[in-house]
Amino acid sequence: MLSAAEAEALILDLTQPLDAGRDGEVVALAEAAGRILAQAVSGRQDFPYWDNSAMDGYAVRYADVQHCTPESPITLEIIEEIPAGYVPQHTVQPGQAARILTGSMLPSGADTIVIQENTQRVGNRVTILAAPQPQAFVRHRGEFYQAGRPLLPAGIRLTAPDIAVLATAQCIQVPVFRRPRVAILSTGSELISPDQPLQPGQIIDSNQYALAALVAAAGAAPLPLGIVPDQPQALREAIAAAVTKADIVLSSGGVSVGDYDYVDRILTELGAKIHIRSVAVKPGKPLTVATFDPTDSQDPQRPTLYFGLPGNPVSALVTFWRFVQPALRKCSGLAQGWQPLIVSARTQRELRSDGQRESYIWGRLHPVTGSYEFQPAGGAHSSGNLINLAQTNALAILTAGLPPLAAGAEVPVMRIDT
Ligand code: AMP
Ligand code: MG
Repeated sequence: MLSAAEAEALILDLTQPLDAGRDGEVVALAEAAGRILAQAVSGRQDFPYWDNSAMDGYAVRYADVQHCTPESPITLEIIEEIPAGYVPQHTVQPGQAARILTGSMLPSGADTIVIQENTQRVGNRVTILAAPQPQAFVRHRGEFYQAGRPLLPAGIRLTAPDIAVLATAQCIQVPVFRRPRVAILSTGSELISPDQPLQPGQIIDSNQYALAALVAAAGAAPLPLGIVPDQPQALREAIAAAVTKADIVLSSGGVSVGDYDYVDRILTELGAKIHIRSVAVKPGKPLTVATFDPTDSQDPQRPTLYFGLPGNPVSALVTFWRFVQPALRKCSGLAQGWQPLIVSARTQRELRSDGQRESYIWGRLHPVTGSYEFQPAGGAHSSGNLINLAQTNALAILTAGLPPLAAGAEVPVMRIDT
C-alpha cells in the first residue's frame, strides 16, 4: 500500500496541466478574479505613466530652495495650479513654483516637491520655510515598471491586487485557462437524490453535492452526472460517457472489496490503467486512481484522470482534500502551490491515530496570537459520522505509528479552506 506522500507524488505525476494554447480562453477583466492566467502579461505603459507628485504642495526647482530655513525662507511666484488630471501649461522658471496636488503631473522645469506643511501662501506667492531633499516627493515615470517588461507571469491565480495591476496595464481582455471540467458520479444501488422520499434501506446521496461544491470552490467546473446503480453495464456506460466529457472524473463508492464494488473491474475492462488501489490513510484507504488513454478521453492529447473515491461521505471528502485537490490545482494550469497548505497548531484535545495508517482528524483551526489552535470536531470521529464534518476547515495529520498526542501538543494541520 502506498503512503499518502507517495500517492500524492504519483498523482501529481499523472496529472497533465491544461495546455495554454489549446485550453486558453479570454475573459473580461471584471470576470478574471480567481482564474488562472494562461499567458504572461506585460504592459504598454510605464508606471507611473509620467513624473508626478506624491504629495500636496508646490513643484519647485531644487536649486531655488536648497538653502531655505525658517529664518531665511525664500518666496516664489506661483505660475499655475495643477490639480489631478490637468496637464501643466507652463515651465517653472527660476524664482517660480506651481501649486500641485497628489498624483498630478510634474510641470517641466520643476524637479522637487515642497510639501504644503513647509510653506506659507499669500495670494499668488508662496514662501518656502524648509529645504527639501533634491527630487523630494517626485514619483518618476517608469520608476516602478517599464513598458514591455514582464508584469504578471502565466500560471498564477488572479487575486484582487493582480486585477488592479491588469487594470492599470489596460489589460481588459485577460487570457486565462478554461476551467477544468470535473465529472462527478455517485455509485450505489442504495442511493437516492435528496429530493426523493427515503425508503427503508436507502441512503441519500450527499457526495454528489459535496464534491460539486468542492470542485466549484477550487475554480473548476463540476459536471454532476447523477447516481449509477451497482450494475456492471450501467457503470460501464456511465464511466465511459464521463471520460469523454471531462478532464477529471470523480466517482464515489464501489471501490472497496465488497461484492458490489465493481469500479476497478469496469475501469480495467474499459482499458484504463489503474495506478493506485489503496493508500495507507484513515479515513479513505480504498482509493482508486486510474488514467484513460488520450484516445478514449475528452481531449485526444491528454489522458483523463480518474479518481474512484470511497463512498463513505467522510472518506470521500477527506480523499478529495488530500489527493484530488492537488491534481485539480495542477490540471488547472497553476504553475506551483499544488500541495495542501500545512501549518503547525496546538491541539485543544488529545489526538489518537490508527497506528498503521496516516490519520486525519477533522476540526477547526483558529488563529491565536502568533500561532494556531486546532479544535477537533466534537462527537465520534467515525468515518460513518458525516454530521460532525460540518464547519470543518482543517485536518490534523497524525503520522502512522505515533503515540497519542496530548492536549496542548503541536500537530501538523492541513488547511482545506485555501
Ligand atoms: P461503498 O464505498 O460503496 O462501499 O460505500 C460506503 C458507504 O458509503 C455505504 O454506506 C454507502 O451507502 C455510503 N455511500 C456511498 N455513496 C454515497 C453517497 N454518494 N452519498 C452518501 N453516502 C454514500
Ligand atoms: Mg457502494
